[in-house]
Amino acid sequence: MAFSKHFLVASDFDQTLSFNDSGSILSELIGASRFQDKVDGLAGTNLVQQGGELAYLIRHDPEFRGVRREHLEETGRRVRLRSNIPALVEFLDRGLDGYRFSFFVISAAPREVIQSALAGIVAPDHVFGTELEYDASGEVRSIVRVPAGYGKVRVVEELESRLGTAPDRTIYIGDGSSDVHVMLHVNNRSGFTVAVSENTQLARIARRTVLSDDAFSVTVPILEDVLGRGVGEIRTLFESNGLTLAQWDKARTDRVTVGDPRQQAAIAGETNPLRLALADEDEAVA
Ligand SMILES: [Mg+2]
Repeated sequence: MAFSKHFLVASDFDQTLSFNDSGSILSELIGASRFQDKVDGLAGTNLVQQGGELAYLIRHDPEFRGVRREHLEETGRRVRLRSNIPALVEFLDRGLDGYRFSFFVISAAPREVIQSALAGIVAPDHVFGTELEYDASGEVRSIVRVPAGYGKVRVVEELESRLGTAPDRTIYIGDGSSDVHVMLHVNNRSGFTVAVSENTQLARIARRTVLSDDAFSVTVPILEDVLGRGVGEIRTLFESNGLTLAQWDKARTDRVTVGDPRQQAAIAGETNPLRLALADEDEAVA
């Protein structure tokens, strides 16, 4: 047996593998107005799973009703990806010393957008996005499913059973509120979670946080915490993948905001002398 340890590595797409939200790229493409307002308004109602707002708009907002497959594919081509996604995918495909990784993308973005953005990098059947059904005229007829919020948990569970991997061999990478459910779930079953943004809600939950423009950077916490590699070995590994670890700041940061007690009391109508906002420790790689 060549490989003894098989891991499922699942990654979010928007702002985890890319820089911008694909929903705002799509709304720009079709000339729809006030995208962010609509998303915020919808999120405030809790009608849809966090991250599922675009799917809802495509089905129900008059400005998005004209969206067709071509718009989604063009949106994918306009997405600006983080660097070195191919190197990350190749590294995971190759595996390392008895560790084998199966990489999947799980995102609330329409599947067509992600498949188009990652064409030639990630196999289409390794992409789980929002599935839409079209009518004969090419317009969206229905939403089949949305991997947002709890929907991501469902996909992770499906993949674990398809691959036959144990829950403690699931690694999940994400950046935003749509990843909260799935990270809590993965942690709860002794899996490993990596946040790639300073979203305080998520940084609190994720086992590690890594900040970088480079997608390959997520291998740092995986190599350290899952494979137990040291700094020197990680450096060598970057080099053997044609990359250099240019800068690595390991920081433990408590961000503290201290308010003026009189102002705070006036604003909040309370007498608490101090209000502290504490963020969890972050690991930063730049
Ligand atoms: Mg995201």
